[in-house]
Amino acid sequence: MKNLPHLKIAHLPTPVESLPRLTASLGGPKIWVKRDDQTGLALGGNKTRKLEFLVAEAQANGAKTLITAGALQSNHCRQTAAAAARYGFDCILVLYPVDASGGSEDRLPSLSANLLVDRLLGAEIVLTRRAEREATLDQTFQAAWAAGRRPYLIPYGGSNPSGAAAYAVAMQEFLAQQLPVDWIVFPSSSGGTQAGLVVGAQAFGFQGRVLGISVDETTETLKARVASLATQTADLLGERFTFAAEDILVNADYVGGGYGVPGPGERRAIDLFARKEGLLLDPVYTARAAFGLIDLIRKGFFAPEERVLFWHTGGAPALFADKYRDWLSQPQAD
Ligand SMILES: *Cc1c(COP(=O)(O)O)cnc(C)c1O
Repeated sequence: MKNLPHLKIAHLPTPVESLPRLTASLGGPKIWVKRDDQTGLALGGNKTRKLEFLVAEAQANGAKTLITAGALQSNHCRQTAAAAARYGFDCILVLYPVDASGGSEDRLPSLSANLLVDRLLGAEIVLTRRAEREATLDQTFQAAWAAGRRPYLIPYGGSNPSGAAAYAVAMQEFLAQQLPVDWIVFPSSSGGTQAGLVVGAQAFGFQGRVLGISVDETTETLKARVASLATQTADLLGERFTFAAEDILVNADYVGGGYGVPGPGERRAIDLFARKEGLLLDPVYTARAAFGLIDLIRKGFFAPEERVLFWHTGGAPALFADKYRDWLSQPQAD
């Protein structure tokens, strides 16, 4: 695999830890966690790895301003703002509410959690509606360009081939940690994490399977997105692999009310990981993937002798968002 230019931002390798009390309580396969919630950049998460490659590309292009977009509580936007601050870029975030409780489209809601951190990191915030996000992003980019701010556009979730390449390298890092596992389970949304992992799995000979739990998309949409991105990522890395939708393992049974709308399954997952292992999950991504993992174990999807790695992608800052306060303050659903 080609070595692409990248910055050294993340604290790597992220640790791998066993989860014996969680394993015992579920009575299924042995479970480990890979701590990409601890990548170190302004509260960490999976976007730090992608930004090592994306910000290097922005520098190489002579950019002065990083522009990206996401939900009001986007972890990707928070980490992009932090990387911008650290490397001396301006940062413009195009943000939108994802549901009625996320605030109105015309007025910024109270600053909490990721949105508060965006402000502290000095990002400029442009508010839009979800349906208009493409148009607003385009206008924002054009305006920055016209103003001589040399903007560089980072895609949603940092998921283009350069960002996804970071997760091919992450797979290499995990294999060097010498923990043989049969499954890697994690939340999948814009698809860059999964695309990179499958490219790395192929390039470095990972023997297990890579299962993305969909956060918000149908199986069909996510498989097609990941396959296409994985093929492009392999190409960027100088590998001749191609991926078809049927090569990509996705489970979309846990999307429930959709993006940013967690339910009782996510709540039980948050409580279980916290109480058994002192491990914090986030309401949007990792709790949904953990809900899937727990449910699949209960249904006997994994053989008892199999080993499962839960790849923790971060996001716990969203636990402190106003929009989840009431939901998290209630006693557990069961
Ligand atoms: C962005 C994000 C994901 C999803 O990763 P993709 O590469 O977009 O599929 C998962 N977990 C957390 C915490 C995230 O912020």
